[in-house]
Amino acid sequence: MKRLHNALKLRQLLLLKQLGYRYTDERPSDLEPEPAQLPAHLETLRKLVEGCHLCDLAKSRHKTVFGEGDPHAELMFVGEGPGATEDRTGRPFVGRAGELLTRMIENVLHLRRDQVYIANIVKCRPPGNRVPTPTEAFTCRPYLLKQIEIIRPRIIMTLGGTAYRYLTNDESAVSKVRGHIIRTENYLLIPTFHPSYLLRNPSAKKEAWEDLLKVRELLGNRETEEQRNGETEEPRN
Ligand code: URA
Repeated sequence: MKRLHNALKLRQLLLLKQLGYRYTDERPSDLEPEPAQLPAHLETLRKLVEGCHLCDLAKSRHKTVFGEGDPHAELMFVGEGPGATEDRTGRPFVGRAGELLTRMIENVLHLRRDQVYIANIVKCRPPGNRVPTPTEAFTCRPYLLKQIEIIRPRIIMTLGGTAYRYLTNDESAVSKVRGHIIRTENYLLIPTFHPSYLLRNPSAKKEAWEDLLKVRELLGNRETEEQRNGETEEPRN
């Protein structure tokens, strides 16, 4: 029994190493994973995540929640982690907070949910919906970074503090940074409040709506650029 236990531990350590982690004494928040050696196809990555046991969240989850939406989406939403409904269905943002997010996408951005991509910092439900620990978030983050690398969204909207913190390594409060347009090497990042927070604090919806309008404008600008490019094209006969 002990040998089996040790073999499983070794397998987990090997998987972590393949994800780009090195053995170190540093605190997890100081670790920068090396470029992850993960599959470059979403479906293969999804399968890998389904079998992941790299952190304790795997012990209590029912289903992993990989993420869903358009694999070529220009806009990606990143939340914190699955709740009870997501854990049961394997789909992100399908509980009460998800219903609000869907309304935000449809009513403010005038997009369908399947036109964007929705994912989370951690792929398994933290028991009792607690905030993921730094170890859980850092262990799971390479999966999200790989999803971003594959999907290549132009804009990422982080929902709440956890998503913002682990995508930017910045500890600032969401109330301070919300609505800022943060240019990164590969995408624009716009933080806003988490829909669960908005359900508890409806008065903050006004600010979240303003943030979404910025996203809508940025998405619209691209269309104008494309239309402009289209106009300069030689007419085809
Ligand atoms: N909250 C999140 O952060 N993510 C989900 O998928 C659902 C609720």
